[in-house]
Amino acid sequence: MFESATTKLTLIYMGILTLICLFFSYNWYTIATAELDRGFQRQKVALEGRPRFIDREIVDEILLESKLKYTEAQEAILNKVILTNIIIISAGTLGSYLLARRSLKPIEEAHREQIRFTADASHELRTPLASMQTEIEVALRDPQLGKKEAVELLHSNIEELAKLASLSEGLLKLARQDESVAMQMQTVSLEALIDKAVTRVQKAAKHKKITLVHEVTEAKVSANFNSITDLLVILLDNAIKYSPEKTKVSIVSKATKSHVAISVTDMGTGIRQVEQSKIFERFYRADSSRSSQNANGHGLGLAIAKNISDIHDANLSVQSEGTGMGSTFTFRLAKPKS
Ligand code: ADP
Repeated sequence: MFESATTKLTLIYMGILTLICLFFSYNWYTIATAELDRGFQRQKVALEGRPRFIDREIVDEILLESKLKYTEAQEAILNKVILTNIIIISAGTLGSYLLARRSLKPIEEAHREQIRFTADASHELRTPLASMQTEIEVALRDPQLGKKEAVELLHSNIEELAKLASLSEGLLKLARQDESVAMQMQTVSLEALIDKAVTRVQKAAKHKKITLVHEVTEAKVSANFNSITDLLVILLDNAIKYSPEKTKVSIVSKATKSHVAISVTDMGTGIRQVEQSKIFERFYRADSSRSSQNANGHGLGLAIAKNISDIHDANLSVQSEGTGMGSTFTFRLAKPKS
């Protein structure tokens, strides 16, 4: 599809270039030959007007020689025009092809990304659906299915449905972020932001007996309150999800003249160096997380967080010494301009 679009675009660029070349060449050739013709006519009139001093035969000879030179010059001009056009159009074809490829490259990449995203999303949706289908089919085929087993099956199905609901919520968030890049920024209190995020993850922390510590100095920042709360909730949720029980997750802020840096540190599984750049991609999950029974997820959280960070120019990054060494996620928010 993109190959034929590139060819079409190349032909369009080439067509435009050829038309421009032909227009200028025609004009240049007409002007040059008209100038030559005028010179020849002037010479002819001058020679024919003085027959008394010059022999008629000599005049004819001179005129014949001039006519020959005139025709030669005309041919030379035509050859030069043709050669110049061939060079310009050949170089133009190559240039047009490169330009067409360059123009279509971002569209091609976006298209590929869209296909990959749809394939990944379908895969993620299919897995819980297939598992639910198998469980139900097995249960239906069992003539001795008791009430207890049926209830267990329903519980398991509810779990899968919850996963599907969280996946569709994540997908919807990503799609909405892609649609409306501009967000309304307000002057917000950093403490209020962090309090709100901490409240939202308190239940999960309590469940794993994890202590949430925050050492945040009050500051005003320029941000979209709801989005930055979402970003913080994603980081805190992950910190809790990927940490062993009875550990500590801390939120620390550090202010500079123009920004406030906020970091979330855990004592959890840590992230290997090779995976640190990949975890922000959609649907990416580190191998250890995929194999872990306790850490549910679809690999969308950090992609959403990264989008929010990009919109805020917040530079979201990760530092981890590796497996088992815990992780720190940091981002920065600008202070409001006074
Ligand atoms: P999810 O948590 O749903 O898998 P995310 O996009 O939030 O998706 O995270 C992507 C991956 O990054 C996770 O699967 C996990 O491997 C890794 N990760 C994220 N946060 C942490 C953390 N605090 N500690 C260890 N690994 C993490």
